Amino acid sequence: MRIFFRLVGLLLVLLLGVLLWNTYRLPSRQLTDVAPAPEIPVSDSAVLHLSRAIQIPTISDSAQKDTSQFEAFVQFLENSYPRVHQHLERERINRYALLYQWKGSNPDLKPILLMGHYDVVPVIEGTESSWTKAPFSGAMQDGYLYGRGSLDDKSTVLGILESVEYLLGQDFQPERTVYLSFGHDEEVSGLLGGKALAQMLEKRDVKLEMVLDEGGTIKTDGVAGLNQPVALVGIAEKGYTSVQLTAHGEGGHSSMPPAKTSIGMLATAIDNLQKSPFATNLGGTVGEMLRFLGPEMPFMQKLAIANLWLFEPLLISTFSATNSGAASTHTTIAPTILKAGVKDNVLPIDAQAVINFRILPGDSVQGVVNHVKAAIKDTNITVESLSAFDSEPSAVSPPDADAFQQLHRAIKACYPDVLVSPYLVLGATDARYYRRLSENIYRFTPYQLDEEDLKRPHGTNERIRIATYHKMIQFYATLLSSMAK
Ligand SMILES: [Zn+2]
Repeated sequence: MRIFFRLVGLLLVLLLGVLLWNTYRLPSRQLTDVAPAPEIPVSDSAVLHLSRAIQIPTISDSAQKDTSQFEAFVQFLENSYPRVHQHLERERINRYALLYQWKGSNPDLKPILLMGHYDVVPVIEGTESSWTKAPFSGAMQDGYLYGRGSLDDKSTVLGILESVEYLLGQDFQPERTVYLSFGHDEEVSGLLGGKALAQMLEKRDVKLEMVLDEGGTIKTDGVAGLNQPVALVGIAEKGYTSVQLTAHGEGGHSSMPPAKTSIGMLATAIDNLQKSPFATNLGGTVGEMLRFLGPEMPFMQKLAIANLWLFEPLLISTFSATNSGAASTHTTIAPTILKAGVKDNVLPIDAQAVINFRILPGDSVQGVVNHVKAAIKDTNITVESLSAFDSEPSAVSPPDADAFQQLHRAIKACYPDVLVSPYLVLGATDARYYRRLSENIYRFTPYQLDEEDLKRPHGTNERIRIATYHKMIQFYATLLSSMAK
């Protein structure tokens, strides 16, 4: 018996040794040798430009009938950025999508492309009076500039243009060609903007060193238990599909119903589906995030991340505790539409439900359909894919690539106290259309937001801190001058 306890004790000591050894060996992935970026003298005109841009209501609705605002915006850019329009070649695709080319002196270097969109979502009727400043006023108060588009995504478009205008004023000549692409319908699918722009570059056989689109932000209140600002650089985005389930009943009088009406069958199917969630996966993008942030975590978390072989279930339950955490570790299932019945005493014939899925990289649209069929186990229910907005999950862009390192460097140069981490974009961006143009597609918007601010894009009181906007211009100028030289 004593030998047994000794053996157990020895094993425990060994285990502890292995755990500590792995924790100790977990290398930091943060760059530490980055010199601070030079301050850029941002003129008042830069902020006024953004204010003016917000006052042009380039609202994307599905019909997008009022194109005069889009024309006005294109003219506004021409007037506001004279050097850009003198030195860069500009093309208009489908009239309002814009592609700028800043020719580099060395054709052997693959070009980079910075992108954004200048359309905005509407303001929900009845919420206008809840805004501190009117949503299309571009008004400033207490160091903030208010308005629809101030975060999503006019600050990106204008921040990029300000930085190029500034660099041109410094006689900067890029060695590497720089493309800027600005879509005008991102909020309603991006088909005429982002997609058309990407297809045109593809036709010209352009291969890009890097694509940078909107995406993750600098989360000032940290992520995953880290109380430190973290720059979240999207290295992949989830796919999208919706599936329609139809249960077929016989109809008739509700006084003599069958054991299960079409509504009952459908309800069972949805219940079965929700009881069969997609597998949770801590590899892929989340794995990369753990590699970047794990070493910076407090000791116990670091120990768990360094020893995933033992603590994976614990980490999975930590991720699953929040909706956003769960969404980044598996394909999500969201029933969104239910249709059946017309009258309380009439049995419905067909009952229909639409289920929306956001697909984790590694899964696929077809995989989702197969999963649904297997989970509902009812051949009387028709399963149809609604393919209108289907998109496969993106490839995962490597966080070890030189382009990512350059991005990492530019972030650290402008925001020295920030940790950098890859992450998975849960929504969809126009960047997905560029998948054949580059292996290095990153989704990152260089502004600082906290959890509370994340409700502002598409919500009420969208606003940007003016000092943050200055930093965005500095970031783009830093990135361009290091990557394009
Ligand atoms: Zn956006």
